[in-house]
Amino acid sequence: MSSPNTAEELQRLTTVLAAQREAYGKAPYPSLQERREHLDRLEKVLRENIDAIVEALNTDFGGRSADETKIAEILTSLEGIKYYRKRIKKWMQPERRSLGLMGFPGEATVIHQPLGVVGIIVPWNYPLYLALGPLIAALAAGNRAMIKMSEFTPRTGELVKRLLASVFDEDHVAVFNGDVEVATAFSALPFDHLLFTGSTAVGRHIMRAAADNLTPVTLELGGKSPAIIGADYPMQDAVERIAFGKCFNAGQTCVSPDYLLCPEHRIDEFVEEFKRQISAMYPTIIDNPDVTSIINDRQHKRLQEYLVDAEAKGAKVIQINPANEDFSNTRKMPFTLVLNVTEEMRIANEEIFGPLLIVHGYQKLEDAVAHVNAGPRPLALYYFDWSNERARYVITHTHSGGVCINDTMSHVAIDDLPFGGVGDSGMGQYHGYEGFLTFTKPKSVFRKGRMNATAMLLPPFNRKIHDWVYKLMLKG
Ligand code: NAD
Repeated sequence: MSSPNTAEELQRLTTVLAAQREAYGKAPYPSLQERREHLDRLEKVLRENIDAIVEALNTDFGGRSADETKIAEILTSLEGIKYYRKRIKKWMQPERRSLGLMGFPGEATVIHQPLGVVGIIVPWNYPLYLALGPLIAALAAGNRAMIKMSEFTPRTGELVKRLLASVFDEDHVAVFNGDVEVATAFSALPFDHLLFTGSTAVGRHIMRAAADNLTPVTLELGGKSPAIIGADYPMQDAVERIAFGKCFNAGQTCVSPDYLLCPEHRIDEFVEEFKRQISAMYPTIIDNPDVTSIINDRQHKRLQEYLVDAEAKGAKVIQINPANEDFSNTRKMPFTLVLNVTEEMRIANEEIFGPLLIVHGYQKLEDAVAHVNAGPRPLALYYFDWSNERARYVITHTHSGGVCINDTMSHVAIDDLPFGGVGDSGMGQYHGYEGFLTFTKPKSVFRKGRMNATAMLLPPFNRKIHDWVYKLMLKG
């Protein structure tokens, strides 16, 4: 059944798009001061509403760690604002390009022109950051934006709508909630650019819908991100850094390590160290406010089914449950290792997106690399090794959206690095200068000088001047 606001939101879509287009037409190139002021408004509303944001996310998840919300939703957004605010001045300058023989005398430049109205579709796992991250880049680039929040985070969706409406007119930034019908209609709107964050399966629908309008897309998708422990990397360090990416938001992160490739003879050492560290970090789970819940029953059921299916097909499932709690009436899940995984198991083929980690053994580094390359190209790849040479080998012999050497997940928080997938994990990128480029058109501008040098080359051809120019060109 549709939620009450679905019909209303569906109606608003086309009127808001028309209003944004009209407003964009009247102010197509916001000045540096205006863009900074737009970002300042965002910053202010975020700073003033930290508690409300924490509370909304906690309600939507049925238990979302307040610290995880502060770190991964609010701090990241504030850092993004700071990053763009500082750099747009430089990026707004026309870039001088070389003229070549044919352009002389004149001036060749590239200006980065805002695209107009940008659409942003948001998933449920980090609903604030994945709405604001693209919005910050879109506003810095001088655009207007329409945002569709996930139907699975209605409280956060309503809050984001209210907060953004308090600082932006609807013809500048507008937020939509409601069911998947709204998202489907949203993706079919003729935006000037559409940035989608979500699953690979839905990404295919988005690209099809956008194709009808020739709307360019950035697809920020998911997949199975591997972590590889090098042969002699200290296990305590490796586990600490892998646990960060695996446990944060209960593994409901697009760049969370999905499976581990561990030197075969070190698997027992990894399992023991993982159990030890997780038990120390999370001595209890169900009532522990540091542990985030699985977002809803559907996702919880999916993860349980992976375990049942894997166990039935011969996997070894190791749940880390230090206080021996009963998980039958909660959506919180213990952190779990899954060993002896084979290709017939669902968990081997589908993105986990939860607190489960597959552990595979490998003999030689080349085998680990071959394992990664046999699957679809992942969003992130993690490699643990102090040898730069081996790290270089892994980086250059695998494909992934990004790589973290000796850590998990933290590359996403480095604002100056582009963020985006490759192959099944997505196309295009935002964050950094690349984010500014995503939301602008690099427009070529050639300004001809007073003297019209081309006139000399006008017909009739085969005059001396033509011979001379051709000789000059062929000289190299
Ligand atoms: P999802 O693909 O189910 O939904 C994402 C958004 O798309 C939601 O807002 C939803 O309303 C909308 N949607 C659903 N069906 C649609 C359709 N047919 N047409 C148009 N829109 C539609 O993803 P999710 O479950 O919300 O999020 C989890 C997925 O997102 C995981 O695969 C994860 O890896 C990925 N993800 C990727 C990134 C990244 O930056 N690359 C970040 C977070 C999550």
